[in-house]
Amino acid sequence: MVNAKVHALLNNQINKEFYSAYLYLDFSNYFKARGLDGFANWYKIQAEEERDHAMLFYTYLQNENMPVTLEAIDKPDKVLDSDMSVLKAGLEHEIYVSSLINDIYAAAHEAKDFRTMQFLDWFVKEQGEEETNANDLITKMELFGSDPRGLYLLNQELSARVYTAPSLVL
Ligand code: MG
Repeated sequence: MVNAKVHALLNNQINKEFYSAYLYLDFSNYFKARGLDGFANWYKIQAEEERDHAMLFYTYLQNENMPVTLEAIDKPDKVLDSDMSVLKAGLEHEIYVSSLINDIYAAAHEAKDFRTMQFLDWFVKEQGEEETNANDLITKMELFGSDPRGLYLLNQELSARVYTAPSLVL
């Protein structure tokens, strides 16, 4: 039996992950309009990963016989006025999502909900990787983004990203 607060936070996280997917689609759309298809590809795949995260929370709640309540997904609200502003908004968002995962983990810990803690372990690790990826993109953009040839090669590198299903299976 999942604690009421833990349940509410897990249910809310379905919405937050779908919002993340929506936000990254917005980023992808920004870069598509810029003609930077590699960046657009990278964020489109990022959006697919976020949808997968939402589905993991959704499935976990169902598996635990906890009601799922789907709420409205917010409109992406980040101001995208330069390539770097998009990348920085991505890092800022991942730091925020990490704090959400940590909050659920803390509530699960307090409730001695060890099953939820074990479920969340994957997300704790995943958030570390998301923050690293977002940071790496900013570093590469700082190094190469101001040079047209550098930007071209970075765009090519990001076009190589392919979708892979999450390693966590419920
Ligand atoms: Mg996520």
